[in-house]
Amino acid sequence: MAKVPLKILMVASEAAPFAKTGGLADVIGSLPPALRALGHDVRLVMPWYRGVGKVTGNLRPSQRKLLVPMGGRVYQLSFRTGQMDQLPVYFIDAPEYYDRPELYGEDGIDYPDNAERFGLLSRAALELARLLDFAPDVIHAHDWQTGLVPVYLRHQLWRDPFFAATGSLFSIHNLGYQGVFPRATARKLGLEQSLIHPDGLEYHKQISLLKAGIRFADQVNTVSPTYCREIQTPEHGIGMDGLLRSRGERLHGLLNGLDGELWSPAKDPALVQSYSVNDMSGKALCKHALQQELGLELNAETPIVVMVTRLDSQKGIELVLESWDRILTRQLQLVILGTGNPDYERRLAEAATFYLGQAKVLLRFDDALSRRIYAGSDLFLMPSRYEPCGLGQLIALRYGSVPLVHATGGLADTIHDPQQEADHSNGFVFDEYRQENLLKGLDRALSSYAKPEEWQKLVHRGMTQNMSWESAAKGYVKLYRLCTNQG
Ligand code: ADP
Repeated sequence: MAKVPLKILMVASEAAPFAKTGGLADVIGSLPPALRALGHDVRLVMPWYRGVGKVTGNLRPSQRKLLVPMGGRVYQLSFRTGQMDQLPVYFIDAPEYYDRPELYGEDGIDYPDNAERFGLLSRAALELARLLDFAPDVIHAHDWQTGLVPVYLRHQLWRDPFFAATGSLFSIHNLGYQGVFPRATARKLGLEQSLIHPDGLEYHKQISLLKAGIRFADQVNTVSPTYCREIQTPEHGIGMDGLLRSRGERLHGLLNGLDGELWSPAKDPALVQSYSVNDMSGKALCKHALQQELGLELNAETPIVVMVTRLDSQKGIELVLESWDRILTRQLQLVILGTGNPDYERRLAEAATFYLGQAKVLLRFDDALSRRIYAGSDLFLMPSRYEPCGLGQLIALRYGSVPLVHATGGLADTIHDPQQEADHSNGFVFDEYRQENLLKGLDRALSSYAKPEEWQKLVHRGMTQNMSWESAAKGYVKLYRLCTNQG
């Protein structure tokens, strides 16, 4: 018997193309359309940040007010309705909280009221579902920002017949961001005192909104099988491994896909010349254009090694800084596009000044430039300390830039080294997080680059690999059915 389509309410703090700081936005920009293509009714709720209107055009605020009770206050909000690939996107309009220059903070400092900002998003999403008379089979919440969705559902609305059949899935895109706030915040979020204990939301005498999601959702998943195993160990569990182990069979690892329409060198308007696996001549032009744009020495032979990344300790920036001079004694050019930790920004910019014409550090968030870098590069470096899934390496594969990665989390699941898996290798992997290992991996990659036939095989395999969202979306549907007991 064919299974009935599901009604899915997705709640997230960012989604491409409306607002993006990292991979979460890519996932939220791709998973809902993939679910819709499978026949499900999906709707997305996210904040109306300052920059969203530039993408959507001016959407009018709703006439109907959304009344959101939270922490003894009733917030009177509007919402705006937009679209993503024909599915409705509801933007919560609360200028007091979302009309700011950035999503989460400025100059490396989080906004002090982030708990209220995202608690409100979580609570508002539930009220909006009711206002729209959209009773979801499942609410899918993502990361600490929406970790309170399952708590509000289970502890405040459990008697509400509207939500009687609603289950919840909580996805961990990064365990490193735990949404930790002072205990006193609980009151403003409308959380009962009875929830604030070690078996509830309490985390080292404070409260954690990530823990809330993990603890109270019907099912929990993270974004790769290896990361799913890793976070259940004390080494990678950041204090939550016990709780994660206790969720047992309700904790799953599901690899992200990559949107082949949004990320395709054959259709990317940001490139000077498109290319595909059947005709790679455009890639050489992209490389030349990149060298020209960045003021690198113009040389078709020299391999360009790049990083496109948040500048965060998670991403292995320390290892790159430590290895800087040794990397640059090799015959290569190095390009880093990133923003984040001001200390890393300063150190990287300074390190680049010693290698004019060979190394370039670009400290900004620039989607079009990132695409020119993926396309113009030969090697994509991703030495993350830990990596839940990672999209950078998947985009690189698609653009024919061969990844060199640390064997962790989703990087270990998606990149296969010729030394281990000769027949389906697509990149280079180094084991322990150490300078010597990174350099050995780099040398293996460079010696392969020097053998064009061998190199082209790697490039070809990466570019033709199936990473569609369709199979990931099918995996999510299975989890949704578990949440609704239709598994
Ligand atoms: P994370 O979500 O941890 O930041 P991912 O590899 O999953 O890492 O996703 C990173 C996404 O953000 C990719 O789409 C990458 O191209 C993009 N990105 C990261 N830094 C920049 C930047 N400075 N400019 C443009 N895009 C960036």
